Amino acid sequence: MSSMSRVVVTGGAGFLGSHLCDALVADGHEVIAIDNLSTGQVRNIEHLFGHDRFKFDRHDVTNFIWVPGQVDIVLHFASPASPIDYLELPIQTLKVGSLGTHNVLGLAKNKGAKVLVASSSEVYGDPETHPQVEEYWGHVNPVGPRGVYDEAKRFAEAMTMAYHRSHGLDVRVVRIFNTYGPRMRPSDGRVVSTFLTQALRSEPLTVFGNGEQTRSFCYVDDLIRGVLGVLWSDHVGPVNVGNPGEFTMIELAEMVREITGNNVPIVFDDLPADDPSRRQPDISLLSEITGGFEPRVDLRVGLTRTAEWLAGELEQV
Ligand code: UDP
Repeated sequence: MSSMSRVVVTGGAGFLGSHLCDALVADGHEVIAIDNLSTGQVRNIEHLFGHDRFKFDRHDVTNFIWVPGQVDIVLHFASPASPIDYLELPIQTLKVGSLGTHNVLGLAKNKGAKVLVASSSEVYGDPETHPQVEEYWGHVNPVGPRGVYDEAKRFAEAMTMAYHRSHGLDVRVVRIFNTYGPRMRPSDGRVVSTFLTQALRSEPLTVFGNGEQTRSFCYVDDLIRGVLGVLWSDHVGPVNVGNPGEFTMIELAEMVREITGNNVPIVFDDLPADDPSRRQPDISLLSEITGGFEPRVDLRVGLTRTAEWLAGELEQV
């Protein structure tokens, strides 16, 4: 753990960005959150307003980023990240991964700051190796609907490594696997928020395809701990961050019914284009560079906490 740093978090009002702001402020750092609020929400960070080590700047990082004073670290988490969001905002998704990443790297170079860029398990596309290791180059359809996110993240990684090689910038890259927890929007379209919201409203659970596709779900607190572990490590280059516990969508649906106590029916719908058939992180590298990282929150516990939070959200709607 480093001493107090001045940290810029892009996407700071988003799901992961806001949890990062919380963790950094709690650890004694000064945080400047930047967000254009396209998918982020002020309510995710409003509890930090008034804190003397927190500032919020509403700004779109695809435009030049201006931050006065010293900056020690930049964490680039700005991007639509749920499939329905990036399918609705395809050009903005490509821009924030390309122009946004370029601006972030330029800011870091100008300030002599370390940069951590949020990449994604989507860089592996529909993977042909299982579990996915960092050395795997991926299997992505560049022109399909999901390609806007996958290729934006692949470009962001390439640009980040180019700044490291050409300018000696101190960089970190995290490949984030499916993450869930409080502050997911009930309508963000991701499977965990969707199933929990449906069960809490006594609606059928919409399983896409035959439900045999798998994902490995990481609770947000574990994810943030993993990301900060990579930040404070010496490892340059991509690192998977996630929880290797792998489940089919049918298994997830059954667990959601059990946890909410609501035995709603399961209905089947079309599988979205290029939906990966399976996904599981190999986190050996993460464990090695962080002195033994392990996820602590199992799916049942994490889903219960998320259900409680979503129930509170739904009451307010
Ligand atoms: N999915 C589903 N029902 C839903 C939403 C998603 O069966 O209502 C499936 C989706 O097809 C995918 C998995 O759940 O196979 C995870 O989807 P999500 O959008 O959460 O994230 P992804 O890993 O695909 O980016």
